[in-house]
Amino acid sequence: MSKEDYRPQRLTFPEEKATEWLPMLLDSYYIADKAIFEAVTKRERRGERLACAKGCSSCCHTHITIPIYPLELVGIYWFVIEKMGGAVRDEVKRQLKEFRKGKGCPFLVDGACAIHPMRPLACRHFNVFNRPCAPGEDPYYSRRRDVLDPDEKAKNKALAAMLPFHGIRERAERKRAIRTGALNSFVKNLHEIDWPALAMRMDGRSPRGPLL
Ligand code: SF4
Ligand code: SF4
Repeated sequence: MSKEDYRPQRLTFPEEKATEWLPMLLDSYYIADKAIFEAVTKRERRGERLACAKGCSSCCHTHITIPIYPLELVGIYWFVIEKMGGAVRDEVKRQLKEFRKGKGCPFLVDGACAIHPMRPLACRHFNVFNRPCAPGEDPYYSRRRDVLDPDEKAKNKALAAMLPFHGIRERAERKRAIRTGALNSFVKNLHEIDWPALAMRMDGRSPRGPLL
C-alpha cells in the first residue's frame, strides 16, 4: 500500500444533505486530518516512525482529560444512536451504562475506537512516534519530543469550521472567536459527560441529550 492510500478523505454520509450540523463537523475533521497527515509525513521523512496504529490503545485508558466540543458531542450521539450496529453497539451500550469517571473511554471496544469516524479532535491530534505508549504512560510528560505538535493554524481552522453551529458565521466574527478562545467555555471533558444518558437514548428511553 502506498503512502497515498493513507491520505485522509473527507468523510461523507447521506444524512449530510438533511442536516446543517453534520457537514460542519465533517469539514472540521477533514481539515484536522489533513494537517495531521502532513505533520506526520514530515516527521516520517526525517526517519521517525508513527507508533499509533489500530489495536494500540493504552492512551484511551490513560487519558482522563479529553476535551469534547458541543458539535463533537452531537456527532458522537448521532453516530452511536443512528449508525452503530451489531455486537459493537451492544458492547458500547453496556460500557456507557457502566461508565465511571477515570475508568477508560467507554468507546474503546476490543482495542479499537468504536466511534473512529467521529472521534474528537483531541484524539485525532494526539499522535506518538517511535514506540507505543506503555500502559499508564502519558508521553506528553515522559517523552514530549515523541508527541506530535499539531499545526496551530490548522487546529484553529478546524475549530473555526465548527463555529457556525454556535451562530458565529462571519469571517471576522470567527477570527475573533478563535482569538478569544470563545469556544473553550463550551468544552466538556469526556470523563465528565453523563454517558449512561446516551445508553438510555440508545434504548429510546430518554428524550434528553444533545441530538438535534
Ligand atoms: S497515543 Fe500511544 S497508546 Fe495511543 S495509539 Fe498512539 S502510541 Fe498507541
Ligand atoms: S474516543 Fe476513541 S480514540 Fe478517543 S479515547 Fe475514546 S476510544 Fe480512544
